[in-house]
Amino acid sequence: MNIVLMGPPGAGKGTKADVMARNLFVPHISTGDIFRANIKAGTELGQLANQYISKGDLVPDEVTLAMIKDRLAEDDCAKGFILDGLPRTIGQADALEAILAEQGKQLDKVVNIDVPEELLIARLCGRRVCRNCSQTYHLENNPPTEAGRCDECGGELYQRADDSEETIKNRLEVYRAQSEPLIAYYEQKGLLLSINGNQTINNVLMDIGKGLGQNW
Ligand code: ADP
Ligand code: AMP
Repeated sequence: MNIVLMGPPGAGKGTKADVMARNLFVPHISTGDIFRANIKAGTELGQLANQYISKGDLVPDEVTLAMIKDRLAEDDCAKGFILDGLPRTIGQADALEAILAEQGKQLDKVVNIDVPEELLIARLCGRRVCRNCSQTYHLENNPPTEAGRCDECGGELYQRADDSEETIKNRLEVYRAQSEPLIAYYEQKGLLLSINGNQTINNVLMDIGKGLGQNW
């Protein structure tokens, strides 16, 4: 199954995508995670991307699209993927369709996780991420068993630099202006599955499963 997972920053895409990917035996491809891995490794791509990410702006299309084209061509995507974080603009959505068509593929579903804006800032400010495996936690909603340590691998948890209140505000503005129109775009194409993201993590996952015809 070829799935795009959409929603504003903090909607819970990464949290749900990991579980979905494990159940569907497909990779979870997060453009944000790929950029952050490059920033950590100090690559040229990482240095360039960081100039935009640190301000909450979008990384330019030529960089992002080349990166995702290569990633989707890898062998582990042959049976499907969960794409999290792209597309973020109508232009990227058109480009994604063309990239997939070149590979003889198309999207099966676009899952949009809907969360009221007033909840997003608290979700993002309380988010903690594992430095080692990128597993995501929340100080109150989804805390690790031991404070500051990842349940999965024991790695150190950290707060993303772009999860500061000022950068979050810009990211939400960028989302409203550039990404929100994708909801109507995919609805028109008959691909949209809208999910109420203002529920427990398990209930959101159950609703996604039902909508995708999966029994997980
Ligand atoms: P996104 O990938 O959409 O930016 P994340 O999956 O990183 O969002 O989730 C943002 C924050 O909200 C994290 O701290 C996560 O633990 C928390 N979270 C995710 N889903 C839920 C939920 N259904 N209810 C409450 N908190 C959630
Ligand atoms: P995320 O991990 O999805 O919250 O993304 C973190 C940051 O990475 C975003 O605020 C953008 O700066 C950048 N980014 C991720 N995906 C894209 C994309 N598809 N297009 C442009 N920038 C992106």
